[in-house]
Amino acid sequence: MGFLDELTEGIANTTRDIGKMAQNAGDLTKLQYDKKVKEQELQKLYENLGKKFYNSHKDEDDDEIKEITACILRIKEYTNDIMELKGGKACTRCGALVKAGDKYCSACGEKIDDIFEE
Ligand SMILES: [Zn+2]
Repeated sequence: MGFLDELTEGIANTTRDIGKMAQNAGDLTKLQYDKKVKEQELQKLYENLGKKFYNSHKDEDDDEIKEITACILRIKEYTNDIMELKGGKACTRCGALVKAGDKYCSACGEKIDDIFEE
């Protein structure tokens, strides 16, 4: 085989190898992306199942149930503090900011004229 033939074959092999490497890199990226999407989907399914489980067991004497209840209450307190700093309160239905004097929530339409009476 002549020098030019060997060179041509060498270039062809290198081109094939680079093509294969690029394809592998593409496959790897796609697989990693698909895996991430599936992991996020699983996380969401666990979350939904956890919420359902919590809602049907929230009165039970269980440490994790109590922790979730404590988190929910703390988040409500933070929300109220934030709304107070913004000069109002959270709508009891949707959580949007409502201000004294409002008769209805501008976000969801909930009648809110009594949440400022304390
Ligand atoms: Zn609302």
